[in-house]
Amino acid sequence: MKTKDINGCRIELVEGDITTQDVDSIVNAANSSLRGGGGVDGAIHRAGGPGIMEECRRIGGCPTGWAVLTGGGTLPARHVIHAVGPVYRDGRHGEPELLSGCYRRCLEIAAENRFESVAFPSISTGAYGYPVADAARIALAAAAGFLRSKGVPGVVRFVLFGKAAFDAYAKVLDGLE
Ligand code: ADP
Repeated sequence: MKTKDINGCRIELVEGDITTQDVDSIVNAANSSLRGGGGVDGAIHRAGGPGIMEECRRIGGCPTGWAVLTGGGTLPARHVIHAVGPVYRDGRHGEPELLSGCYRRCLEIAAENRFESVAFPSISTGAYGYPVADAARIALAAAAGFLRSKGVPGVVRFVLFGKAAFDAYAKVLDGLE
């Protein structure tokens, strides 16, 4: 675990599985159909039960760079924010803005719903191919920027799957002003 305090709030980095997190909301790295997939998406739907997918079906879909909210089903987390990150091509097709926007939208949803804690996976760095060092810079800059301007949510946790991802985020967090 590694932490940094910003404007009365805390950014936390942990290595682990997002489906076990006891927080107001976890974030899913979804795709725009919201019909489920592999990686963290599959793990969340498996652990959360079929109710989450039913809600996703009713919502219908979500554009890249945006996010939608459902309940948490049988997860310890009370809600799931389904965020759609960009597929990485070369970084010159709007990917940084889309990824940053995705984090910002999740944090807005958390703030609007008065969530005290939100846990993110490393969006877009699995099947979507975003280089993890670049994604870590974007994710942590988005989180730090939001916390500085809004002062909520109280806890923003990044749950990194594996040591390589944890180390990439830790390096960026160390360099954060
Ligand atoms: P994307 O399609 O946005 O790239 P993936 O689910 O393929 O989404 O991968 C996003 C990140 O989530 C990757 O770094 C992957 O290692 C990680 N991941 C996979 N399963 C879990 C899990 N259970 N908890 C947290 N992170 C996970």
